[in-house]
Amino acid sequence: MAASIHLARAGMRVTCIETDPQDVDPVGESLDWFAPELLRELDLPMDRLLRDGIATYKRHVILKLISGAARHYIPSDWLGRPPFNVELRTIHVDRTRLNRIVRDCLVSNGVTLISDKVVSVERDGARVVAVVTEAGERLCSRWFLDASGSATSLFPRVFELPAFEYGPRKVALWDYFQVEEALEGTTLLGDCDGNRYMEWVWQIPIHPKTISVGYVATGESIKAKRQQGLTIQEIYSEQLARFEDLRTLVPDLPHSPPKITSYHCRTFDNISGPNWLVMGEAAAMVDPMTSYGVTGALRHAAEASRIVSRYRRRKRLPWLARTLYVRRVLAMAKFFNCGIEKVIYDWPIRNRIGALNAGDLYTIPAWSMNHLYSRFRPEGLISTLFFSLALRILRMALSIYYWFCKRSRPAAPVCTA
Ligand SMILES: Cc1cc2nc3c(=O)[nH]c(=O)nc-3n(C[C@H](O)[C@H](O)[C@H](O)COP(=O)(O)OP(=O)(O)OC[C@H]3O[C@@H](n4cnc5c(N)ncnc54)[C@H](O)[C@@H]3O)c2cc1C
Repeated sequence: MAASIHLARAGMRVTCIETDPQDVDPVGESLDWFAPELLRELDLPMDRLLRDGIATYKRHVILKLISGAARHYIPSDWLGRPPFNVELRTIHVDRTRLNRIVRDCLVSNGVTLISDKVVSVERDGARVVAVVTEAGERLCSRWFLDASGSATSLFPRVFELPAFEYGPRKVALWDYFQVEEALEGTTLLGDCDGNRYMEWVWQIPIHPKTISVGYVATGESIKAKRQQGLTIQEIYSEQLARFEDLRTLVPDLPHSPPKITSYHCRTFDNISGPNWLVMGEAAAMVDPMTSYGVTGALRHAAEASRIVSRYRRRKRLPWLARTLYVRRVLAMAKFFNCGIEKVIYDWPIRNRIGALNAGDLYTIPAWSMNHLYSRFRPEGLISTLFFSLALRILRMALSIYYWFCKRSRPAAPVCTA
């Protein structure tokens, strides 16, 4: 939808095909510090979202362990002053309401919205010629953008694009609760004792008195619990009961099972062709713990639509512009996924330096690179190569440290700093 709005504003005739206009169980509620600026470019400034009850302030992130040890991540005040001028506030959003106003914005910008599902893609070699919907409509166009999400990844599947995968398949179970007063921050509760892959619970206030609480574990772990005879609801409530902060919510659990989704973090390569580009999670599924998903999708939308509108008079998108786009999408997604898997989810680094220090080791470079990306908005050859190289060096440094921690005798497994 964001890409459609950008393209329509650039004067193009746009059709957006959406299979789920009712937004069944949307996710992506805790935004990082760089999403508000991208939303403002869609005429959705943070103040308006807060005023209209679509968002709440996210002033910090708290990483909390089962032992009770915690660390607060709050951008320092000096970052907000010149020459940095970083926006120190960000938001949590009610995704159903946010999607609704983005859809209104889409329609008011003259985009044709079709409620249907693309079921096949007609191609002529590397070009996409048309897409065909479930209702039998065949839509031809000069340009195509695929933002079909990670479960569909339409063009990557059609073109059988190579993928890089990170970590095991994961499952998220989540629900909403009424509370007296919610914190103005996201809380991540980590369950990471010993040499285990980490499981965690998010707590996100989407309204002043409503929190979203989600449990993330590997597909294998959920399967094992199901084989022991536990229902999805029992698995969810058992997990909440493990954390002191969430125990009080267990009696309020609704009778219906929590919402559920599964995903596998991965990034596709070559996500562009002569007349198409792939964006958002269809191109790169980044782990939700990073809070990068919405920022990444909005960034891809802005960059991909800029490429299409700039070269719309040509017969094909120039190779260099689309290759640099692919490099940027890949470099950011690989860096986030590799960092979160090696430093936080897996045990070698976490056990050696403590989970809270591991939180710092991931967060500081991730936040800094994300900030630099927002600031400099790489697009040309030099800036894209610079960013890709810097991200690759950081990724390699983390991988070497991970290898070192795994190979050397593991320190006593601890979770506190
Ligand atoms: C459990 C979980 C928690 C998350 N939490 C966060 C978070 O806290 N913060 C954050 O920033 N990000 C988070 N994310 C990521 C975030 O939800 C996404 O990155 C974000 O929604 C952008 O995704 P997207 O637009 O690329 O894809 P989606 O949001 O998946 O949208 C894809 C759209 O394409 C439509 N579609 C699919 N197939 C077809 C088809 N064949 N034809 C037509 N339409 C089709 C779908 O209906 C859907 O509307 C989370 C993800 C998960 C799985």
